[in-house]
Amino acid sequence: MVFKQLLRVACVASLSVLAIAVVSAFPLFEEMALTANRLAHHPTNLPSQAHALLAWVQVYKMELTFGMFLTLGVLTFALFILDREFRAHLQYKLSTSIDQRRFMMTDPALLQKIRLSRIGFMIALVAIFILITVTYQSYRNQLIVQFFALGVFLFNISGTYFFGSLKRAGQMERLVNRLNLYHQNKDEAQEKLVQADKRLQRQTASLAYLASHLNKQTSSQLFYQALIKQSAETLSVARVSVWMYSADKQQLVCEALYELKTQAYTQGQVLVANDFPHYFDALKQARVVVADDVYQHSATQDFVVDYFPSQQIGALLDATIWHDDEMIGVICHEHVGPAREWTLDEQNYAGSLADLARLTVELHRRQKVETDLVEHQENFEDMLKTRTASIESNAKLFRFLVERAPVTILYMNAANEIIEMNPEAERITGYSRDYAIGRTYQSLFVPEGMTGEHEALSSDVFFGNKIQGQEMLIRRADGSTTELSISRSMELDAEGNPVIISIGQDISQQKALEASLIKAREAAESADRIKSMFVASMSHELRTPLNSIIGFLGVVLQGMSGELNVKQKDQLGRAYASSKHLLSLISDVIDISKIEAGFLETHQMTFDIKEVMHDVSHAVQHLVIERKLNLQIECPEGITLDSDRKRLYQVVLNVVSNALKYTEKGHVSVKVIPLPEQLEIVVADTGIGIDEAGLAKLFKPFERIDSRLKIKTLGTGLGLYLTHKILTLLLGGSITVNSKVEQGSTFTMRLPYQMPEVEAGKLVNILEGQ
Ligand code: ADP
Repeated sequence: MVFKQLLRVACVASLSVLAIAVVSAFPLFEEMALTANRLAHHPTNLPSQAHALLAWVQVYKMELTFGMFLTLGVLTFALFILDREFRAHLQYKLSTSIDQRRFMMTDPALLQKIRLSRIGFMIALVAIFILITVTYQSYRNQLIVQFFALGVFLFNISGTYFFGSLKRAGQMERLVNRLNLYHQNKDEAQEKLVQADKRLQRQTASLAYLASHLNKQTSSQLFYQALIKQSAETLSVARVSVWMYSADKQQLVCEALYELKTQAYTQGQVLVANDFPHYFDALKQARVVVADDVYQHSATQDFVVDYFPSQQIGALLDATIWHDDEMIGVICHEHVGPAREWTLDEQNYAGSLADLARLTVELHRRQKVETDLVEHQENFEDMLKTRTASIESNAKLFRFLVERAPVTILYMNAANEIIEMNPEAERITGYSRDYAIGRTYQSLFVPEGMTGEHEALSSDVFFGNKIQGQEMLIRRADGSTTELSISRSMELDAEGNPVIISIGQDISQQKALEASLIKAREAAESADRIKSMFVASMSHELRTPLNSIIGFLGVVLQGMSGELNVKQKDQLGRAYASSKHLLSLISDVIDISKIEAGFLETHQMTFDIKEVMHDVSHAVQHLVIERKLNLQIECPEGITLDSDRKRLYQVVLNVVSNALKYTEKGHVSVKVIPLPEQLEIVVADTGIGIDEAGLAKLFKPFERIDSRLKIKTLGTGLGLYLTHKILTLLLGGSITVNSKVEQGSTFTMRLPYQMPEVEAGKLVNILEGQ
């Protein structure tokens, strides 16, 4: 080290000597000195100030040189002082800053002073060097010049020494500063580590606390509240909340929200997906949404206009809750204040909270399934008990019914062997239950010669058909037979084996009764027919002489047997009218008797309904004129019927005559309406009408309804009865009436286009039914 210093000093010294030698010997400097001298004495080419300055330097060269040396001395001393100060400062730094890990910059004022001294020193040194060079020639004694060169040399040495020292100190300082910087970074990193460690400890403790509360007893709501409170305190976040998706994933509903400042909980707020599309999308894509600055993050753009400014929220940390690969909710941390950098451990902590929330959801779902299961099991057991009880009581009831049933009940297996039979079966067949069980149905009950029928019945049942009320003869224990109405089917028993159940009702008495009834009915029918035939033939016998009476009365009334006086004419007229009335009565009676006896002959033919209407209109013309009424007949063209023309004419005539007879003023209308299946004939009048009681007996024989026209109007009370019979029994039609007293009546007749074929026998049956 010392050697190095000495080498340096030697170098500087030799350089200085070389400089002086060059100055004193080099012709260029010699030339420079001469030129300067000449310029000082011949100043024509120079500006006057420069000339004056050079002249002044030549004159005061000695004073200037000494002045310079003095300045250099002062500066050297200053550098010495500064060097000491600088070193002391560095020493202090090395002893304090490094140990205490503190960084301190070098005093800028000191550095400034060093810089200025250096510049001053260099300037002074260069100036003195130039001064000596310029004034070199003018010194008479060159020894002075050599003294000056020595001075320069000494100052150069001392300057070099102090500059070197200061440079080294500066290097040292930079080194120390770098060291300090390194320590400072290390300290900061260590501080960060300590902080992170503390945070981690807090987070771990909080997670452990929450995990210990994660059990069936804590409701989801309470757990969420604990979770958000812990989180708010651990992360120092102003608001923490848990939100769950609605079933359609279109809404987030707040389950719980905790505010650190007020320590209060709220819930029930709703976020709709359509209002916050960016936010809902972002949640779907990340496990944790980390918005250090909510105003910069894309996920939180939906809230920047209103919500964040109003709540002063600067940062947001959201952890989504997943269950079965499906997002079910989110835990939301809202930081009030400026932007906040969420550390990795904080993000992980939020993720762990979401996991805990998922666990509680799973736990409660599983718990619900378990309670449901227990409940179902209990319900099932209850149901089983009730069912068993009801089956038992049903079985009792069933046994009771089987034992008391007034029908025979047999259970047989697929081979037709008796498994069980009831007391009624024992009673009717005469076999005891013990005897019958195990024997085949065929061996016990099938009478001789009837094996075929019984076999057919059995195989029918075997192939799954149900036999209902089949009448069969069966053999009894004593060899006699009885008739049963048998219903039989095949069912499966509890073990799934086929069982044949055969129920028999003893119909022997019923059959005997039926036989006697048929006999009685046949007797009654033939008697009735004979009576009807008698009435019909009697009436026929009456009609022949009556026709002749009417004929002769007509001849007499027309005056063919001589002139009649007024009285005779009146009396004979009455007799004539009464005879006619009697004839119509007899005709009706004959018709009714024939219908009832089943012998009314029909004449089916094809005809146009319009013709029938025309005939009716013609026949009642005298009544229309007599009663001054208006008769309107509406009948479409070309409607043909295949029916009994005469009977239809009779029916329509009767109804239209009645309408005219029981109408005092107004009109009677007849409308023929062709319906798809039937022809409708509606006869409406504006007559006296029929009351409720009258309507009830309208179609009964010999019923004439009380009215003010009853006396005035001739009638038998058989017309509508016969009409009804002909329409319903012969023509296959119907007649209905609608009437109001003093407002008129409407008779509606309907008949098919094609008359049905009615057999005499069938007609008798129909009549029996009446
Ligand atoms: P009658 O020969 O007396 O007319 P019907 O059997 O034809 O016998 O009629 C029975 C009764 O029904 C009649 O006596 C009459 O009182 C009542 N009647 C029938 N048609 C009409 C009608 N269009 N308006 C009012 N009453 C009627």
